[in-house]
Order: sequence, then C-alpha cells, then structure tokens
Amino acid sequence: MLQTIDRTVSAFQTDSSPDSLAAQVGNTPLLQLKKVAEGASLPAAVNIYAKAEWFNPSGSVKDRAALNIIRTAEWTGRLEPGMTLLDSTSGNMGIAYAMFGAARGYHVTLALPANASRERIATLEAYGAELIKTDPLEGSDGAMRVAQELAAENPDYFYADQYNNPANWQAHYHTTANEIWAQTNGAVTDFVAGLGTSGTFMGTTRRLKTLNPELVATAMQPDSPFNGLEGLKHMATAIKPGIYDETLADAIRTVRTEEAYQMAQTLARREGLFVGISAAAAVVAAVAVARTLETGTVVTVLPDNGLKYLSERFWKE
Ligand code: PMP
Repeated sequence: MLQTIDRTVSAFQTDSSPDSLAAQVGNTPLLQLKKVAEGASLPAAVNIYAKAEWFNPSGSVKDRAALNIIRTAEWTGRLEPGMTLLDSTSGNMGIAYAMFGAARGYHVTLALPANASRERIATLEAYGAELIKTDPLEGSDGAMRVAQELAAENPDYFYADQYNNPANWQAHYHTTANEIWAQTNGAVTDFVAGLGTSGTFMGTTRRLKTLNPELVATAMQPDSPFNGLEGLKHMATAIKPGIYDETLADAIRTVRTEEAYQMAQTLARREGLFVGISAAAAVVAAVAVARTLETGTVVTVLPDNGLKYLSERFWKE
C-alpha cells in the first residue's frame, strides 16, 4: 500500500532557478503510522497514513499554497518582479513566501505576531523578509488586521491574503488530494486535517469527495482559543477565513494541547517521526477517527517537522 516516491531525479538534477525550486513542491511521501495504530489496538483492516509535508523545500505544507498564490498572481499580471508581496502569517506561510520571493525577485513584507518563535523570526530574516511585528495579545487576527491596513495604504503592493485567496485551497485540490488518491490506490476512506486558513482541509476534501463521494472528512481544531497548536485556529472565536466553508466537514474534532504534546513524543520515540505540534494533533484526531472504524484507510497531513518547536519544554519530559 505504501508507495515510495522516487525523488532522486528532481533532487540531483536541479539548479537554483525559480522553476526548479517550484518543481520541488509536493509529491511528499505518504507514511504508514504502524506503531501508533498498534498502540491504539486498531483492527488489522484499519490503517493510518500521513503526508510528510516537511519534505517541501521550505519545510512545510505551506509551500503548496504560497506557490499557487504566487503563480496565479503572476499569470493574471497582479505580481511582477520587483514588486512587494504582503501578507499576514504566523510563520510557515511567511517562510514559504520568503523563499519563493527571494528566488523570484519579490520583496516580501509580513505582518506577524511579535511572540512568533525565535526560530521562525530568524528563518524569515535569513531569507531577507521584512517583518512588521504585531500585538502578541491579538494573535493571527491582529496580524491580519495590520496587513489589511498596510494593503489599503500601499495599493502598489500585491496583497496575497491567504485567508481569502482561493488559490490557497486550490493548491491542495490540484496536488495534495491527487497525491493521496494515487498513493493509496484509491483506498482512502477518511481524511483528517487541522484548520488554520483551512486551505489544506478545503482543497483536499473537495477533490477527494469528487473522486470518492463516500469519503468522510474530519476537520480538527484546538479545544480553546488559548492553545499551543501553532498554525491552527479555534474557529468559534477567531475571524473566520473567507475560504472556509464549514458545511464541507462531515465531523469536527477538537484536540487538547497536552494530547498533541504527548503524541509528538510518541511519534518521535516510537515511529522515529519528529513532527510539529499541529502534526501531532492531526494524528490524535486521525486515531480517534480510526477507532470508530472496522475497516478503512485514514489519511492525515503532517504540516511540518519538530525543528521549529525545539524550545518547547515538553520534549524534555
Ligand atoms: N499547521 C501548521 C504548523 C501551519 O503552519 C498551518 C498553516 N497555518 C496549518 C497547520 C494549517 O494549514 P491551513 O492554513 O492550510 O489550514
């Protein structure tokens, strides 16, 4: 069932041109989580798989959305070399914009909460992005409001607006979903993903449901507005992204930060998978879905690896 993607050709025959970098996006491995399934005592006919999105060139799932947003803007003439790309981001999307911006000749300006982790800020600075630090108490919604103000003041900027830009979810419609379908040989029965902008969940679910109308899609979110699941939104209290359509989810599961920390440790120590906190939370939700099945193939998405979260104390416990 597990399909190995041959990355050898693209990895060894590339250069640093913008299109070579773009060719590295997607086609990430689909990993079977055997130890987690064993630990949950799942029936033999229930399997859990996960897309390892840190294989993307800037290290997260957001390369897919950033690339599609940039390409769509280039094709429609809204973005030209030398221009400034502006958006708000809590981290990964900014890192993806900063990478593509550097390679394609755009100035990248990002509004982000001032309490973003040191690792994220240092990475953004390494790529040469300009950072506008916003009130940490207002979180990603505060950063979004600042970006909207900057966009209004600077009509010559390209405001990428990841929360409302359909090219975000369309990236997953055209790539992530088709990869999951091919890598499971069409066996996927359940899809689980966390909600940030909701691009990953919306695009992947829409496409998978056209391929298998019986597919059950579960959206995962933190259990409270104050949580440690970086990159995810508590939809009931956050500004609802324009691209989010809650009717698409067949079920919504909430995950507590402590459960995610514990799963991050389990994945590192039992599966050898060093993943980020939202990835661990996605696996918590995937296991909960798998527990309700007698037979099935549950697929989830691991947005990034653990390197950006090394300063979290729970790793030492
Ligand atoms: N996890 C992490 C670590 C992220 O950075 C993001 C993006 N904000 C997500 C999950 C959620 O992805 P999406 O925006 O596609 O819903």
